[in-house]
Amino acid sequence: MEELNFDTLAVRAGSRRTEFNEHAEALFLTSSFCFENAAQAAERFADAENAFTYSRVTNPTVSMFQDRLAALEGGEACMATASGMSAILSVFMASLNAGDHVVSSRSLFGSTMQLIGGIFPRFGIETTFVDPTDLDAWRDAARPNTRLYFLETPSNPLTEVVDIRAVAEIAHAAGSLLMVDNCFCSPALQQPLKLGADIVVHSATKYLDGQGRVLGGAIVGSNDFVLKKVFPFVRTAGPTLSAFNAWVLLRGMETLAIRIERQSANALALAQWLEQQPGIKRVFYPGLPSHPQHEIAMRQQRTGGAVVSFEVAGDTPERQRQRAWAIIDNTRVCSITANLGDTRTTITHPATTTHGRISPEAREAAGVTEGLLRVAVGLENVADLQADLARGLAAS
Ligand SMILES: *Cc1c(COP(=O)(O)O)cnc(C)c1O
Repeated sequence: MEELNFDTLAVRAGSRRTEFNEHAEALFLTSSFCFENAAQAAERFADAENAFTYSRVTNPTVSMFQDRLAALEGGEACMATASGMSAILSVFMASLNAGDHVVSSRSLFGSTMQLIGGIFPRFGIETTFVDPTDLDAWRDAARPNTRLYFLETPSNPLTEVVDIRAVAEIAHAAGSLLMVDNCFCSPALQQPLKLGADIVVHSATKYLDGQGRVLGGAIVGSNDFVLKKVFPFVRTAGPTLSAFNAWVLLRGMETLAIRIERQSANALALAQWLEQQPGIKRVFYPGLPSHPQHEIAMRQQRTGGAVVSFEVAGDTPERQRQRAWAIIDNTRVCSITANLGDTRTTITHPATTTHGRISPEAREAAGVTEGLLRVAVGLENVADLQADLARGLAAS
């Protein structure tokens, strides 16, 4: 399947038929698999990567999802997990030891920040956080015990864009691997492995599902990393993707490319419109020429993506929060929810939701102010979205 184009892989890669020759992928809701005899059981347990024994270890529907995502990312292998967070957890648990050091972007999804900044230090894994757009900072943070570099691009919620190729070179010079959270772009817009990254992690909950139904996650990389390091951890610890969720995700990935293309076009139109509105301090969208990393974004992504953030003006943080909340409260079309990647547009106030648990200092450093709103643009007509936000802007 390797030589086929992305759109073809999205609907075809990984599919395997059973003896019944079903056209759609089968959903294998079974916790375990039977054997002809004791000898076959022994054989299959010895070849756990390829044989089906127990669904914590492998499941045919989950395998189809893994093979499809590996093909879309251009990776050798993929390991599915129950959520995006368990994908990140699994990479750390599978490949790092107490005493190892990590260099990470400071602009991360809130729970990721909590995990690597708040929980891993208890297990002896220390992380240095850097400004992701400052290549010298990435370089200077390396230590003899650095094993992993980690970034999200574009970042959540400020859409900072990191030069993947440049950071990959720095990570490799430091004898370290580079892991990229590719949730915001999905492989339809950006393929980090082709830009030099070693590991891609996903929250499949977002664009891969694309319709806000199930949680899922994945790790994509080399056979060596995914099968020899990550698989032994996941099969043992059990942050496994359910077969049902894998089946839903297989359906979602079929429409990934056309969804995200239209959602990106809507996002660009909305971002351009927001830039013209009074009372808005700044619009953050990589597809706008005003975005500080616009050129890098246009080099490594196919579009600016589907997430637009903007900061409303206000004399004080309290006033800013009041105006941001008024915009949210005046919407009738947008969903007030923290999820993103859905066909339905969502609006969030990051400072009090997704980034509410991190310290005010870390929030400040990440640029998540009280006036910031994040809109994850869906498939609605963009004129309806503009009218939806215009109401709140006028009221505030
Ligand atoms: C949502 C998200 C995650 C976590 O994924 P879950 O599936 O919610 O566990 C990680 N990274 C980014 C960028 C996200 O948006």
